[in-house]
Amino acid sequence: MMSRTVYVNGEYLPEEDAKISVFDRGFLFADAVYEVASILGGKLIDNKAHLIRLQRSLDELEMPAPCTLEEIEAIQLEMVSLNNIEEGLLYLQVTRGAADRDFAYPKNPVPSLVMFTQEKKIAQSAAADNGISVITQPDLRWDRRDIKTTQLLYPSMAKHEAKKQGADDAWLVEDDFITEGTSNNAYIVTQDGTIVTRQLSTEILHGITRKAVLNLCAERQIKIEERKFTVEEVKNAKEAFFTSASAFVMPVVSIDGATIGDGKPGELTKRLRELYLEEAVK
Ligand code: PMP
Repeated sequence: MMSRTVYVNGEYLPEEDAKISVFDRGFLFADAVYEVASILGGKLIDNKAHLIRLQRSLDELEMPAPCTLEEIEAIQLEMVSLNNIEEGLLYLQVTRGAADRDFAYPKNPVPSLVMFTQEKKIAQSAAADNGISVITQPDLRWDRRDIKTTQLLYPSMAKHEAKKQGADDAWLVEDDFITEGTSNNAYIVTQDGTIVTRQLSTEILHGITRKAVLNLCAERQIKIEERKFTVEEVKNAKEAFFTSASAFVMPVVSIDGATIGDGKPGELTKRLRELYLEEAVK
């Protein structure tokens, strides 16, 4: 793979030369927030919404922004252009910056801003064609999952466990109800065709793709219920899927080894994926 151009605090550098201090609080405390936007046809998808959520994460942590959202967007566009990415992802991370190690926030932090691109085929995928399998895992994350921090070790453990058990991913469970996936929002389609997804709260990330997909449903009079649902309901559902900025709408065809529906991506799921992709590139 060719060396990418990475953005670090005002500089566009070859990835080998991009460096962050070992005292950076992102490294020491995961005192950092991030966003991932997909790129299709050289265009960032739903980026304004990602930037608004970035600001919200910063505000919740009283973390200063490295620059204005307009400036961040200008850097993002430059990164897509410099790396010549037609299809893939743009990752951005803001940390509270470097300071001598201390749990309390430093007085006048100078935040760090880092960005990199990943070239990847995301519109067409075998997973989208065939659906994926999930296992359930207890949701052992902290209680502020609405803040998009880089504290991703537990989701990473849960996904690792899923792979060990021969599945693709894990859906997390708290008090018998699914919260969300390791890196995505979870949905079922009931036998009567209603889409059910957990209501927004501090218990889940407020997915940008979730919002876009629920808007598409509302415009088309597809019934939506925003409420908690159990693992049992997933097993009895007609269809299941997840959403995320990097996977769009992804069919889920089994959970804990039990087939969902007929074991193939559901009709409504496929339609929503197509609709989302059509709208995204408009
Ligand atoms: N939940 C979690 C825990 C996630 O990590 C993600 C993706 N980062 C999502 C939901 C989906 O959010 P989005 O649609 O904004 O990518």
